[in-house]
Amino acid sequence: MDILKKFLAYYKPYKKVLFADLFFASLASMAVLAYPMLVNQITKNAISEHGIDLALVVKMIVLFLFLMVVEYGSNFYTDYCGHAMGAKIESDMRSDLFRHVQKLSFQYHDNTRTGQLMSRITTDLFDISELAHHGPEDTVISLVRIVGSFIILVNINGMLTLTIFLILPVMIVFAYHYSIKVKNALKKNKERIADINSQIEDSLSGIRVVQSFANEEIEMDKFKGSNRRFLESRKNGYKVEALFFNGLTGFISFINISVVVVGALLISYNQLQLTELITFLLYLNTLVDPVKRLVNFTQNLQNGAAGFERFMEILAIEPDITDAQDAATLSKVKGKVEFVDVGFQYGSESNYVFRNINITANPGEYIALVGSSGVGKTTLCSLIPRFYETSEGTIQIDGTDIKTVQLKSLRDHIGIVQQDVYLFSGTIKENILYGKPGASDEEMINAAKHANAHEFIMGLPGGYNANIGQRGVKLSGGQKQRLSIARVFLKNPSILIFDEATSALDNESESVVQESFEKLARNRTTFVIAHRLSTIKNADRIIVLSEKGIAEEGTHAKLLEKKGIYEKLYTMQFN
Ligand code: ADP
Ligand code: MG
Repeated sequence: MDILKKFLAYYKPYKKVLFADLFFASLASMAVLAYPMLVNQITKNAISEHGIDLALVVKMIVLFLFLMVVEYGSNFYTDYCGHAMGAKIESDMRSDLFRHVQKLSFQYHDNTRTGQLMSRITTDLFDISELAHHGPEDTVISLVRIVGSFIILVNINGMLTLTIFLILPVMIVFAYHYSIKVKNALKKNKERIADINSQIEDSLSGIRVVQSFANEEIEMDKFKGSNRRFLESRKNGYKVEALFFNGLTGFISFINISVVVVGALLISYNQLQLTELITFLLYLNTLVDPVKRLVNFTQNLQNGAAGFERFMEILAIEPDITDAQDAATLSKVKGKVEFVDVGFQYGSESNYVFRNINITANPGEYIALVGSSGVGKTTLCSLIPRFYETSEGTIQIDGTDIKTVQLKSLRDHIGIVQQDVYLFSGTIKENILYGKPGASDEEMINAAKHANAHEFIMGLPGGYNANIGQRGVKLSGGQKQRLSIARVFLKNPSILIFDEATSALDNESESVVQESFEKLARNRTTFVIAHRLSTIKNADRIIVLSEKGIAEEGTHAKLLEKKGIYEKLYTMQFN
């Protein structure tokens, strides 16, 4: 019931269209009910052994034309505006879903296949829109037609009507049974297409890796598997559908023949007139058609309901990282960042990545994090913008617990330059402006200049309007890094996180990136996950992480003197 309420809520903005749709649907149904009456008038009264009553025929033809206009006019409205309403509802739902999915935390996206989500956002919602449009409409059409033709049929001849209603229940049971089979087949189809989508998404995002390992055949095999499973499920779907529709048509023919046979018998016993039998047969079809429609509708309903349930399932996932109630905005930030007894585990089942971390970074301080791979440097930094929530302890900025402030305002103060830069397909300009949408061209170009990117950008055909290809494939590693630095320059945050690319850059572009980054770091609290000597040496403080937490802390010179882990790491790497 709750789910029905939520479904109906989507009709709210379209109440008028919905009522008009239902009105025109009933109007069209009534027109359909009236046609056989006219035929009856003509066969019974206009044509007789005394000749043709031309006036009556003309009257009937005019009425006929009028009904046609009413029927097709109404149908045009329901087909066009009704479908458009369904599409609008679908589009509203899709927006809700996309907005929601964007809010879900890293934790959720770590564990969900993108292709499957895409499938839900696109194809699954189509079923719901079909239901949204045809649901109310089919119910009204069927009710008007079934009740209307039933009353008329009984009025023409009770015996004949009884004949129909002896066969009809069997047909309904058959239809219902098969509609469930069809529904299951369709559901399977959808799961299979979602599999294919995520398979394609995975292979094509990694096309460079695929081709560099020359593993096209392996990807093809994976694809063949899911493609074949989809084919199988479609074949099965067509089989049950063919059984369903042909079985149904068979039943309808059987009903027609039975009516003709019983009707002929009744005529021979003078219980029925030929014209009545003709009218009866005409009404029979206005009765059977909505029964078919109703069965179709139950299928639509099940499909749409299943789709809507899945849709609601995703909407019901609470984003686990959100604003606390009455969260304050984090306005001006000096840049003091404190980790107080911080512990973290990815999920309650897994081990702690670290515990008891205590760090105080003063405003403007430049801190280098070093430690072997997998020790938790990236994880530690991802806690500051609350990409993940601390499992223990708190993180404070200027003395305020980050959990108590609005997420957006927190993230507005933090700039991140990631190890693998993510750029969006589009132009250079669009990508830099991502740091501060709406910034002026002057600000944007200034940011690029600070990031040592202006020169290479001007060298590109099109300059700032050059297209960088999907995820920036048309740029070199160093260029991408500098663009991502320009993006952060434009954002101008007080706190900076730089996950240094290990060895993706050659020496020359490394020093250019390094230089632009150092400019960026000036007067900002900076955490650098450092791999290179140059970044480490200049640090105000170096924090050495080990499996046991913070192992050592101090300046480069002090740590070398200490002859501990850092000294070992250092001599290993740089001598
Ligand atoms: P570092 O940056 O020091 O190399 P990370 O912070 O990336 O280390 O990883 C620390 C540990 O957390 C590793 O054992 C890694 O396997 C695990 N880890 C990293 N990211 C995730 C994730 N998204 N989900 C689960 N575990 C993760
Ligand atoms: Mg890392």
